[in-house]
Amino acid sequence: MNAVSIFTVDQAKLTSLALLGTACLTCSKIPDELKRCPICRAVSYCSNACQIGDLESHMKTCSLLTVVPMLLPLDDRRYIFERRKIPYDLEIDISIICRGDIGTMKMLLPTIGGELTSIHCDLVNYKPRCAVCLCSADDKRALEGPEYPHLLHCSECRAAFACSEQHRAQYLNEHCQQLERNESFTECEMNKRAFEDSLEIVTRGWTLSETLWFPVRHKSEYAPLPSSWTEWFADPSNLCPPSSSAALNRVRTKQLSIPMTILYGMEQFDREAGDLPLLSSRTELEIAVVGAWEYELLFGGLTVFEEILHCLPSLRRVTLHFVGPDVASKFVGPNGEDRETLEWLPCALCKEKGVEILHTIHPTLFHNYAEECIAKAATGDGPAFQWPDIAVTFNSGMGLAVGMKSGWSPTLEMLAKNGVPTICTSFLEREAEEDDNFLRRHHCNMVFRFHKNPWRSEAVTKMLQTRKGFFSYNNFVQGFRGWTDRRYFPRWDVRNMLARGSRD
Ligand SMILES: [Zn+2]
Ligand SMILES: [Zn+2]
Ligand SMILES: [Zn+2]
Ligand SMILES: [Zn+2]
Ligand SMILES: [Zn+2]
Repeated sequence: MNAVSIFTVDQAKLTSLALLGTACLTCSKIPDELKRCPICRAVSYCSNACQIGDLESHMKTCSLLTVVPMLLPLDDRRYIFERRKIPYDLEIDISIICRGDIGTMKMLLPTIGGELTSIHCDLVNYKPRCAVCLCSADDKRALEGPEYPHLLHCSECRAAFACSEQHRAQYLNEHCQQLERNESFTECEMNKRAFEDSLEIVTRGWTLSETLWFPVRHKSEYAPLPSSWTEWFADPSNLCPPSSSAALNRVRTKQLSIPMTILYGMEQFDREAGDLPLLSSRTELEIAVVGAWEYELLFGGLTVFEEILHCLPSLRRVTLHFVGPDVASKFVGPNGEDRETLEWLPCALCKEKGVEILHTIHPTLFHNYAEECIAKAATGDGPAFQWPDIAVTFNSGMGLAVGMKSGWSPTLEMLAKNGVPTICTSFLEREAEEDDNFLRRHHCNMVFRFHKNPWRSEAVTKMLQTRKGFFSYNNFVQGFRGWTDRRYFPRWDVRNMLARGSRD
């Protein structure tokens, strides 16, 4: 899934309303009246000064934003927007169009002396679309004539669109209704929140170290986790800086979610076992981060995991094994050579206590890594292999492979057969359901079934190329330990399966 990170001013800009053309592309301000670029009509500016300031960089993008969408043959477009009856099929078609448009831009940009950046991709992927029919302004212009101006937007959140007054009226009610089961917020409120976070980072000019923050304190004894982030941030012992704000705290939860989800998972496993073998008395903890990628490695790095040491006073050492083919190439070269080691700069209290975090990085599938370690140990080329105390797969999307063999299959079977308590998270409820299906098909003994993770990232990202919806890191969580011989037959949904296959 294409996720947009919001940790630096530049990255935050990419998720801002400016991308949707409802705030100034240069400064993110929202004046009473925005000037649209008369050529592409996709981006807006608050003033002549802001427009002139951006002229040079926008010129290269502007003509492409106009030309590239028009390359889709009219008949194809008619077929997609006038004959597609199932919204899901329409979403798939749109994701294919977007991928094609980005490919064309990538090809054309060098001919005008530019190169593809994430802004180009985001302008295509986040292109405003009518919430009812999914048409963009480009689609309307192609279907109805070049004089079509631009989509109407919700004046509250500025992030929901309609192609006509009729579609606006049709959608309004839904836009202002409860968005998710058991939650009180509406889509409009959620939109506001998603874009306020990035706007606040941009306008306050927060730096990476301000948005990444971890409390410096060691607990004197293990105390069960509170029930929510609200409670956590309200607790003075977590030393949340007084200058913090609700938006900044939400942004911080994106990384804090990593150690908190691990601690939460360990609590669930301990509760099921009836004692606290994972949490209260151990001095060493070995964690395998399976299917690791940038999320766990790049932002905050090892410091993120320090919170585990801070919460479990008996712990002297945490060893992390980052295992996965997508492990950042920044750290491991194509031939497995170390490019850069992750540095850990412990806080003063960790230094004083003499606790440590060790780590290893393996750009391979977990079962290959484990088999290799076991083989090396057998021939005396390596230390005795120890299964990790806990494994975690963050936002893996493993369930997409339902019905098919994937790299996850042997890994899951191995973790289950060897009784490694494993925590799995996902961006979306739908993905959590797919993962659950997938795990049970692999005979994993589910200890806690999927549910909304109280320690999910509160920084939400709007879904791409769909009518509605949001995702957040570690949004749903589930865990298994051990193996079951009960056969599990999932409900087959062939249409969805085929559709997913063509989309992902
Ligand atoms: Zn401006
Ligand atoms: Zn333009
Ligand atoms: Zn419409
Ligand atoms: Zn709204
Ligand atoms: Zn520390």
